[in-house]
Amino acid sequence: MVVLEKAPAKINLSLDVLHKRNDGFHEVEMVMTTVDLADRIELTLLDNDQIKVVSESRFVPNDERNLAYRAAKLMKDYFNIRKGVRIFIEKNIPVAAGLAGGSSDAAAVLRGVNKLWNIDADHDKLAEMGAQIGSDVSFCVYGGTALAKGRGEKIKALPSPPPCWVVLAKPSIGVSTQTVYQKLNTNKAEHPNTQAMIEALENKDFEAICANVSNTLEGVTTKLHPEVNQIKEKMSEAGADAVLMSGSGPTVFALVSQDARVHRIYNSLKGFCPEVHIVRMLGNRETTC
Ligand code: ATP
Repeated sequence: MVVLEKAPAKINLSLDVLHKRNDGFHEVEMVMTTVDLADRIELTLLDNDQIKVVSESRFVPNDERNLAYRAAKLMKDYFNIRKGVRIFIEKNIPVAAGLAGGSSDAAAVLRGVNKLWNIDADHDKLAEMGAQIGSDVSFCVYGGTALAKGRGEKIKALPSPPPCWVVLAKPSIGVSTQTVYQKLNTNKAEHPNTQAMIEALENKDFEAICANVSNTLEGVTTKLHPEVNQIKEKMSEAGADAVLMSGSGPTVFALVSQDARVHRIYNSLKGFCPEVHIVRMLGNRETTC
């Protein structure tokens, strides 16, 4: 038996870090949405109790360090499953890019083994379990558009943005999320107006969405990697309606309403960044799972 799952990337339309908590995690408020750049996860039932990860990407580990492995192990232990799974990951999402590729793979495995092993847990249960793997996993279980609070695990569905193009550009640098959070001073950083972003989504107001994109982590990452700002400038000059870094970076995204401008933005980045993608927002939850 084989189960196929799509594991889409996410972007942060807004990302606020409120403060550091006593347990060491940061309290966040993030408005996230999935885009149609996705890893493909193929799960094959094994009769012998093993969890096996296979990927052709040299950037992701093929052992218990892989978040997809951890998701399968968590489900197996929690529900006392006596069967195994071979997890094949076709990696299309850039790694360590601020696009939650690993988290989305883990979420896809939670959804997939839930079917493969006939567990039949609901998505709320899977999201609760996902929080043990990483802060973005709960959101990725549902996909679509949502507000994530707490350390990222408290999810409230939001209306999807009006359809538009998204250009993603990742420079050839890796960013350590941990370093960015360590260097962040929440008192000095810029904070988004999350409520205004939520209202913009509720009103399907593209201009207001563009006016309210903001990321508290951007200032820290651009200080470490000035090329992030250069990408933002190039995208703006080429006609983007809004530009922002996603997550802790270094991927920058542009929101673009007019078809004619999309390729101009793509071309302006193509020689500068090794990875540039033109994608659409995925919209509702149902389309991702
Ligand atoms: P986020 O936006 O959630 O912070 P990210 O896009 O910055 O995530 P990932 O692509 O998820 O980062 O990768 C972060 C690290 O996790 C990498 O160093 C990678 O080796 C490790 N990793 C483990 N499993 C996976 C996986 N299935 N896919 C990608 N990376 C993985």
